[in-house]
Amino acid sequence: MPEAPKNTHKPTTDYNLELKNKKTLQFIEDVTSNADEVQKKVLEEILSRNAHVEYFQRHGLNGHTDRETFKTIMPVITYEDIQPYVDRIANGDTSPILSSHPISEFLTSSGTSGGERKLMPTIEEELGRRSLLYSLLMPVMSQFVPGLDKGKGMYFLFIKSEAKTPSGLVARPVLTSYYKSTHFKDRPYDPYTNYTSPNETILCPDSYQSMYSQMLCGLCQHKEVLRVGAVFASGFIRAIKFLEKHWRFLCNDIRTGTIDSQINDQSVREAVTKILKPDPKLADFIEAECSKDSWQGIITRLWPNTKYVDVIVTGTMSQYIPTLDYYTNGLPLVCTMYASSECYFGVNLNPLCKPSEVSYTLIPTMAYFEFLPVQRNNGVNSSISVPKTLNEKEQQELVDLVDVKLGQEYELVVTTYSGLYRYRVGDVLRVAGFKNNAPQFNFICRKNVVLCIDSDKTDEVELQNAVKNAVNHLLPFDATLAEYTSYADTTTIPGHYVLYWELSLNGTTPIPPSVFEDCCLTIEESLNSVYRQGRVCDKSIGPLEIKIVEPGTFDKLMDYAISLGASINQYKTPRCVKFAPIVELLNSRAVSSFFSPKCPKWFPGHKQWINMN
Ligand code: AMP
Repeated sequence: MPEAPKNTHKPTTDYNLELKNKKTLQFIEDVTSNADEVQKKVLEEILSRNAHVEYFQRHGLNGHTDRETFKTIMPVITYEDIQPYVDRIANGDTSPILSSHPISEFLTSSGTSGGERKLMPTIEEELGRRSLLYSLLMPVMSQFVPGLDKGKGMYFLFIKSEAKTPSGLVARPVLTSYYKSTHFKDRPYDPYTNYTSPNETILCPDSYQSMYSQMLCGLCQHKEVLRVGAVFASGFIRAIKFLEKHWRFLCNDIRTGTIDSQINDQSVREAVTKILKPDPKLADFIEAECSKDSWQGIITRLWPNTKYVDVIVTGTMSQYIPTLDYYTNGLPLVCTMYASSECYFGVNLNPLCKPSEVSYTLIPTMAYFEFLPVQRNNGVNSSISVPKTLNEKEQQELVDLVDVKLGQEYELVVTTYSGLYRYRVGDVLRVAGFKNNAPQFNFICRKNVVLCIDSDKTDEVELQNAVKNAVNHLLPFDATLAEYTSYADTTTIPGHYVLYWELSLNGTTPIPPSVFEDCCLTIEESLNSVYRQGRVCDKSIGPLEIKIVEPGTFDKLMDYAISLGASINQYKTPRCVKFAPIVELLNSRAVSSFFSPKCPKWFPGHKQWINMN
């Protein structure tokens, strides 16, 4: 994730980049060396300023600010535990419920509860903490890639729609909140935040116009671009696909120096006009490259000075690495940071390492961190087991930041400045090493998530319910679903969910294709709001597909798993598959395939607010 872009010009006074970088790196040295002291102070600060909030009074913390009392008294929680408090705030209760500072807005997490995005309370000053984390990224990067201040970054950044709670608080994703803040828009000059996209193009609410104008500005300044990126790998690939579809229009604009009439947002047009000049030579060059049969290495061909691609490819995003390698001719893929709506966590101090070796150093000033050990069930799935609610003994197993053990996996638990206390984020991390006294973590996975294409995170229970709803369409045909599994197919752009269905057919009437299409749509309608937003609004997820497989396919799947060492007694059909030979096996036995005929319904905000607003 890049730092905040800024449209300011270089100030006349000298900007001492070297000194600034040195100070930032020294800050990292200091907080990682004194990790435990910093964590103690952070917790004391959070607890003392919030001593009188209702949540602590209910639990009887009685103004204690020390770790021991906090850990003995306060429970380790999930979203469901604080949802009643969150709902009260959303409905207008302004008393200090979770935080003594006023809740400034809600950040809508990509994690869901009851099919709706989770609402994370936040306070104004958190923006400063997020800015701080961003400000660490380039000084770290500049140790490995010199000269990045001499050119620009081409980042595709977008805002998403926002909603209002019944009480009028804004609810929106954390990056939308950040990009719209003055921290982003009015940052002081920094040579590292010299971006090809003017703010207006990023802040344009129309995603087509935003992408088009950002791509146009990126192409116009192609020689100056030293790094490219987006937040997640999926977003960067979407930008390449956009270019594939629209390069003729873009070339026409560059040739004539005029902006396509579809771009009708006045502020975007004005911002782009400052960059776009008639350049027939550049238009010819882009046209020649884009009309070649192969798009291999298109990034390095069009932006020849690019040194690396700044995108998150850890976690589920690793599925996009081969596609990125293809389009970028193997440029380094750099994962700079690890963050969430709840809190920004840490940075990658060795950004040129291989994606499989990326580790994030948690910055001890960001929040108070605790770690719940998780066990791995060895078997074919090597599944991770994390208890849903913790008993007293399990609550005592949580360890502090400096006490984690090398190689051990943990679930991350945070206590933030903005009203989350011992909150389970849902991410599983593995200790990969230490920077001074602060651990560095590999991101392993998001708990329970089986399917993910972009920012959607679908768990097994949601999938099961969605399938259950869909199979009702089969009842009139006396057909039932014998077995199913799923796969996130990212070979298509955008990627899409595939469900493999094995049917048990008792009736004689053939099932028309429209019935399976209805099944696809019902599944999509039943999935969570983040999935549906990806389908409808962001177009980051393609239509869901059902592949009907031959009878006996799932027996073959079991045979295969057993041949790989699964226990025959304990074998359970995996509800999601990733392993290539298994996907091949399923595909080889598919007899027909059906797609969702249209987009599911989606609207901004929570279902229950629609009636109240
Ligand atoms: P959100 O719920 O939209 O705030 O997204 C936050 C979640 O995205 C985190 O809890 C992680 O599961 C995931 N995430 C964020 N940064 C990274 C990263 N660098 N690598 C892998 N996953 C990440």
